[in-house]
Amino acid sequence: MKILLLGKNGQVGWELQRALAPLGDLIALDRQGESGLCGDLANLEGLAATVRSLAPNVIVNAAAYTAVDKAESEPALAARINAEAPGVLAREAAQLGAWLIHYSTDYVFDGSGQGQWQEDAPSAPLSVYGRTKREGELAIQASGAAAVVLRTSWVYAARGQNFAKTMLRLAAERDVLRVVADQFGAPTGAELIADVTAHILHRLFRAHDASRLAGTYHLAAAGETSWHGYAQFVLAHARRSGVALKVSAEQLVAISTEDYPLPALRPRNSRLALAKLEETFNLKMPPWQQGVQRMLDEIQR
Ligand code: NDP
Repeated sequence: MKILLLGKNGQVGWELQRALAPLGDLIALDRQGESGLCGDLANLEGLAATVRSLAPNVIVNAAAYTAVDKAESEPALAARINAEAPGVLAREAAQLGAWLIHYSTDYVFDGSGQGQWQEDAPSAPLSVYGRTKREGELAIQASGAAAVVLRTSWVYAARGQNFAKTMLRLAAERDVLRVVADQFGAPTGAELIADVTAHILHRLFRAHDASRLAGTYHLAAAGETSWHGYAQFVLAHARRSGVALKVSAEQLVAISTEDYPLPALRPRNSRLALAKLEETFNLKMPPWQQGVQRMLDEIQR
């Protein structure tokens, strides 16, 4: 199997390099590209040429414009990368008869209500990022390509910056720490996303009628918390590990979304229903605490 991976150095892309390696011949590109191959999603012609020259069996697109607040002032670039480029990849995949695996987001929803979002619930993004990611989903659907779109939420990885590291730093520096307590979702590890992607690919290439597996799935860790609950979990773990902090988990101040204004609106309810993914691919998503605990153990070693 020949796999083209785009966005190889992002949180998910980095873990995909590991998880996809045993599945076949993996060509992994970042924005800079290599060996004359373009990996820049803003260069639509270059991107199409890359797919044509490699003729992969699978394209895995982990690249995206993910700067949620900056997207509000760069809507055209966000649309090119999040909407137009996935459309190009999907049309090229359809021409080749290749599979496309693509990632999307809880931000396609408006975050209303308290229930879990099903895959077919109406989308109503609140931000440029969410809107452009939704447009990417629609462009993939319109292409007729065999595609799996995996919507995830609150992604973290041990590598690079993440929410937990920021909380640990601020709790060591500040006397008071305020964290939003009215947005709910599930922190989801890039490792889990990559491992589930590899599992899905394995299934796609063994199924008798793989085309029935195409579609949109929610892929997140099980359970739910708020950013405040997530931060409490991180600080409690740090305390148990002997890390010196000025602010303890119990002292974290719960605030509302309105108390922490940002350029882009965030959905309050990012709870994603996991049953479709779990039942279709025979999986059981682990509780979010498991992956976060593992990441904390890694970064505190
Ligand atoms: P990251 O921001 O960690 O990685 C995105 C990658 O895309 C980066 O390596 C970035 O490269 C690359 N990229 C940006 N612009 C271009 C471009 N023009 N050409 C090529 N590559 C580009 O994101 P994640 O790994 O967290 O996200 C993976 C997927 O999951 C995305 O589809 C995202 O929308 C989705 N998602 C993410 C969530 C999150 O909380 N992070 C939540 C829900 C969904 P560079 O570093 O050079 O900019």
